[in-house]
Amino acid sequence: MKKNKITIIGGGPAGLACAYYAKNKGIEFIVYEASNSFGGNCQTIKFNDFYFDTGAHRLHDKDSDTTKIFKNLLKERLRKIHVPSQIYRDGKFIDFPLSPYGLFNFLGPINFIKESLAIIFNSFKSKNKIKNFEDFAINKFGKKIAHLFLLEYSNKLWGLHTSNLSTVISGNRLKGLSIYTLILETIFGKKRKTKHLDGSFYYPDNGIGVLFDELIYHCGVSNFNSKSKVTRINHSDNRINSIVINNQDNYNINHLVSSMPLGIFIESMSPPPPNEILSISKSIKFRNVILVCFFLDKKKINNNGSMYFPDKKYLFTRIYEPKNRSIYMSPNNKTSLIVEIPCFKNDDIWVLDKNDLIKKIKEDLINLKFFNKDHIIDSSIYKISNAYPILELNFEKKIKKIFDYLSRFKNLDVTGRNGLFAYTHIHDHMKNGREIIDYYFKK
Ligand SMILES: Cc1cc2nc3c(=O)[nH]c(=O)nc-3n(C[C@H](O)[C@H](O)[C@H](O)COP(=O)(O)OP(=O)(O)OC[C@H]3O[C@@H](n4cnc5c(N)ncnc54)[C@H](O)[C@@H]3O)c2cc1C
Repeated sequence: MKKNKITIIGGGPAGLACAYYAKNKGIEFIVYEASNSFGGNCQTIKFNDFYFDTGAHRLHDKDSDTTKIFKNLLKERLRKIHVPSQIYRDGKFIDFPLSPYGLFNFLGPINFIKESLAIIFNSFKSKNKIKNFEDFAINKFGKKIAHLFLLEYSNKLWGLHTSNLSTVISGNRLKGLSIYTLILETIFGKKRKTKHLDGSFYYPDNGIGVLFDELIYHCGVSNFNSKSKVTRINHSDNRINSIVINNQDNYNINHLVSSMPLGIFIESMSPPPPNEILSISKSIKFRNVILVCFFLDKKKINNNGSMYFPDKKYLFTRIYEPKNRSIYMSPNNKTSLIVEIPCFKNDDIWVLDKNDLIKKIKEDLINLKFFNKDHIIDSSIYKISNAYPILELNFEKKIKKIFDYLSRFKNLDVTGRNGLFAYTHIHDHMKNGREIIDYYFKK
């Protein structure tokens, strides 16, 4: 039976994933994207002869269908690459994810033994008292390691004290250090260490954005509308009836998939949802990121995929060198560094004069000896809105109330990092898109 058309809000990874699967099932679809480009927070930007991604992106090989799809679409232009990442702390680099071998070198033998004993001791402690990310990190790693590498960093990244953050923020990135790896590495040393380094992933030759260019190309460009912001969502009798684009045109809806930020979706509903839902939606927050980019007349900075900076004295949390993901990201014998600064939109830094911000970060990077001022060909900044939904303590309860309310709309699906208010990645968006379309197809 022919299925009715699906309308998709948002041309980021989540919206495009739905479009891809709809196309493959022969379901008609249309995508409305507010900005003038596709790929959302997962794009590759061209700056003169350089390319950089909107943040240090990689395609994790965690959903086999997703990897297979992108391998088929990109063929030899998608490569598995192996680049390690490191944390810069107190003037030294240490491998990330943390490993016993790295900690031994960083802490020295006496402190290493002390902290290892703390990890072993903590592994026997009850987990019942773990209420927040701070408890979690201290329980898992002991106070010293948690403070040095995790708590200050997470506070900078999420903009909240770690005692107000959910344990969910750790993702899977803290797997490297456990009583298991401690014993293995103590016995087998460095040889064993490399097995849990997080440095292998897929990456397209010309930047992460190519993944989404290829999805669009595969689907046929005519179904994708840019500069089309959904400004109102009309509903009645538990159905979404129509959407308004750019405050002007009204389009009827058969089935709607939204990947726009959850709070904005709720606030765009007409008639408005109950006050409780509206006030919850106003209270959920997003973290933004400013990228400060330096384009350099220097062959290379170092071999790192990403460098993490937990120390509060730096505004930034992470720096990456695009060339270490693909040589095509910089011209021959040149490189670039992209610096990520998390912030809220009401922080002074979000509106700080571009040149003042570049000057401040430039000084830090020169002091870190990454380059000197003569190497700088050019510099630029790029702002990412709604980069991370802030997973504060007990956020699940708030979100559940919103989704309980939305579940009455049988012709609505919600997806995406900001749509679902979840710390999700490209492979998750592809998987969600597949599930949404499969379910719709079978209905
Ligand atoms: C710094 C950084 C590094 C990251 N690194 C990785 C990584 O290594 N690997 C990985 O898998 N993921 C990574 N991610 C996560 C990944 O970028 C996101 O998960 C992904 O961009 C989310 O896709 P989305 O479609 O849900 O949302 P978005 O990318 O935010 O796209 C949503 C789209 O909807 C549009 N929109 C919003 N409102 C409206 C409206 N009213 N009408 C129409 N359109 C609208 C927006 O303009 C946007 O294009 C990273 C993210 C950041 C910020």
